[in-house]
Amino acid sequence: MTSCGACAESSILDEYAINWTQKLGAGISGPVRVCMKKSTGERFALKILLDRPKARNEVRHHLMCVGHNNIVQIIEVYANSVQFPHESSPRPRLLIVMEMMEGGELFHRISQHKHFTEKMASQVTKQIALAIQHCHSLNIAHRDLKPENLLFKDNSLDAPVKLCDFGFAKIDHGDLMTPQFTPYYVAPQVLEAQRRHQKEKSGIIPTSPTPYTYNKSCDLWSLGVIIYVMLCGYPPFYSKHHSRTIPKDMRKKIMTGSFEFPEEEWSQISEMAKDIVRKLLKVKPEERLNIEGVLDHPWLNSTEALDNILPSSQMMMDKAMVAGIQQAHAEQLASMRIQDLKVSLKPLNSVNNPILRKRKLFGTRPKDDVYIHDPENEAEDANVALEKLRDVIAQCILPQAGENEDEKLNEVMQEAWKYNKDCKCLRDMLQSLSWNGRRFNDKVDRLKLAEMVKQVIEEQTNSQDS
Ligand code: ADP
Repeated sequence: MTSCGACAESSILDEYAINWTQKLGAGISGPVRVCMKKSTGERFALKILLDRPKARNEVRHHLMCVGHNNIVQIIEVYANSVQFPHESSPRPRLLIVMEMMEGGELFHRISQHKHFTEKMASQVTKQIALAIQHCHSLNIAHRDLKPENLLFKDNSLDAPVKLCDFGFAKIDHGDLMTPQFTPYYVAPQVLEAQRRHQKEKSGIIPTSPTPYTYNKSCDLWSLGVIIYVMLCGYPPFYSKHHSRTIPKDMRKKIMTGSFEFPEEEWSQISEMAKDIVRKLLKVKPEERLNIEGVLDHPWLNSTEALDNILPSSQMMMDKAMVAGIQQAHAEQLASMRIQDLKVSLKPLNSVNNPILRKRKLFGTRPKDDVYIHDPENEAEDANVALEKLRDVIAQCILPQAGENEDEKLNEVMQEAWKYNKDCKCLRDMLQSLSWNGRRFNDKVDRLKLAEMVKQVIEEQTNSQDS
């Protein structure tokens, strides 16, 4: 197998035939396709990414985690120039050949079971937990644990379930968590700070000088949500108002950790199951079960029959309902990751941005090892450029209160564009979103934009894990 640093540079077409019409699933980086090994006729899944540091990190983190039964296997990775039909010239891309997961995504599979029992839910959970344990034991937080990323090997009854998509995975050194913060607790404060910043248009968004992370515990939060949905068929912080952004009432429920076990669906479900859900959906990450606690929990090790048929498979036949659940889950994860970006500043000596590096060479002393606001220094340009990008994220995730929200978004984007014109990845991103230099021609998906801008920031500061 190739390692990330040594992706095969020979053409993938020498070994594989790519099926350009069949799509296995669509993620944020484009469709995953089918390819066939010419020498054996075997089918594989093929994920194609633009060759950028973020994509290299995805491959690297995924490769670090493969070799476990519950992680989708990578067969080979090619670094080739590929030209898509709408492009004028080839672009460097990574082509990740993976084992084919013929059994499809978790919720789809559950919806096909007529008799999906609590025991089956517990067995699926055990496998997901083993995958997480493997990643966490390597100090890797997956950070995108959602039903679309849990795939069944085939359609047999005992097919293993495996975790895929390491696009948001991050090395988590585990030393960054400070107990006074929680993602949901800190969120309103961060949002409030941004709101003030937006209004006053002055100064820098206050950020905590104490870096922290909740990346691993964010995987456990996700696991709690997934178990809850597998058991009853709707999400814990259910909101009747489906919309593009997390509705206010749902936001509040998440922040306060208020969910219930409505009698109608939950009366038949064991106390053990409710107990593990309660222990995973704790608002404070430090109170949440860790992965060892999950694997030791009685619900995963019970000898009871647990043969009660769950209401979830029936519910999951409703595709719109499943899409709503998935959207809400993806939004929760995205907002957790976005908050992480704002509160964890990088130590100066890990920053690779050329301007910041110059500042380091010329010896501006960082305070508390974190680069700081210093108007007399030219590094300020880079800092401001990053702040402008963060403003776009803030505008994207703030609750939309007024009528001219689109105008506000155009304004902050104009500012960000002004300060980051030499950033190729930003230019590419804006092009893909029909930005005309002053405004977006089409309606933008704000959450998607926030994610994309976050990636630009990560590329600009060139993550210390790369
Ligand atoms: P993205 O990072 O763009 O979100 P993913 O890696 O999550 O892409 O893949 C998107 C979808 O493609 C998945 O939700 C799944 O439906 C499908 N998929 C991904 N990998 C495989 C695979 N190895 N076998 C079969 N389907 C896959």
